[in-house]
Amino acid sequence: MKASSFGYARPASLAEAFALLARHGEGAKLLAGGQSLIPSLNMRLAAPELLVDLGALGELEGIAPLGQGLRIGARTRHCEIERSALVAERAPLLAQAAPHIAHVAIRNRGTLGGSLALADPAAEWPACCVALGAQIVIASARGERRVAAEQFFKALYATELAADEILVAVEIPPPAPQARSVFLELARRRGDYAMVGLAAQANRTDGQLRDVRLVFLGVGAIPVLARHAMAAIEGKAADAAAIAAAQHELSKDLSPNGDLYTSAEAKLHLARVLTGRALAALAR
Ligand SMILES: Cc1cc2nc3c(=O)[nH]c(=O)nc-3n(C[C@H](O)[C@H](O)[C@H](O)COP(=O)(O)OP(=O)(O)OC[C@H]3O[C@@H](n4cnc5c(N)ncnc54)[C@H](O)[C@@H]3O)c2cc1C
Repeated sequence: MKASSFGYARPASLAEAFALLARHGEGAKLLAGGQSLIPSLNMRLAAPELLVDLGALGELEGIAPLGQGLRIGARTRHCEIERSALVAERAPLLAQAAPHIAHVAIRNRGTLGGSLALADPAAEWPACCVALGAQIVIASARGERRVAAEQFFKALYATELAADEILVAVEIPPPAPQARSVFLELARRRGDYAMVGLAAQANRTDGQLRDVRLVFLGVGAIPVLARHAMAAIEGKAADAAAIAAAQHELSKDLSPNGDLYTSAEAKLHLARVLTGRALAALAR
């Protein structure tokens, strides 16, 4: 099937992009890497009157220090994050997650901002951003605002973004000196979307895990912060009893729906398996 006909614009500045969004409203669609949007046009799941290509907006690109943290432009491609020494040093969770995103060809074109704006429940970046306590930077003709990643994802494929807004960057706070992170996922085949994934972050001090963040993907409409499991392990050495307690608490945090391939019970079991592996790795 071919896409419905549409107009195309490649604005040279954010101001020009905002003007196009104002003129076309819901009829305009932003184009980043096109790895999700173009297939949805070709399948006629979307039929915008205008594609607004963000490709000429250099200010949306690149990875830069922000104090001891990081600012990553929305148009930064998955492969650039995967290869960045600065990301590996300051947000290793992202470096660990990147190879799980689809295949090399898709990582070469897909972007951080496109993934966050799409908000696929099985995508890696949304869960990582929640785990890292990232701020999502959103701009429009009305100015710029920041939304905590934890508040950015609203429902299935729905975010804080309004039709006249552009996601411009993600800001990641500096890691604590004892920060540790682990990204794990289970997929049917390498490169497939995750059945269940876990972005985990904690500080390890005196053998105990503190400030633990366990964020799951693939088990709900949005990234799920497992608050009961986090509380069960907080301030504890991750020994077998503490890990078992956190795994037990997961049933209060997660109520996954089964899908074509995996039952709800199996997803909860896999989430417990990943939790056990992640906590053991954080404690090492
Ligand atoms: C076969 C296949 C397998 C995949 N597997 C995975 C996977 O395992 N994990 C995963 O995370 N992803 C996966 N993806 C998706 C891929 O990561 C995409 O790159 C990503 O979802 C969207 O990024 P994009 O830059 O291509 O955005 P686009 O496709 O260009 O846009 C996606 C949506 O975001 C909006 N958008 C884009 N940029 C902005 C912005 N700056 N501000 C506001 N709105 C914006 C667009 O209007 C559109 O609605 C897969 C894709 C394919 C085709």
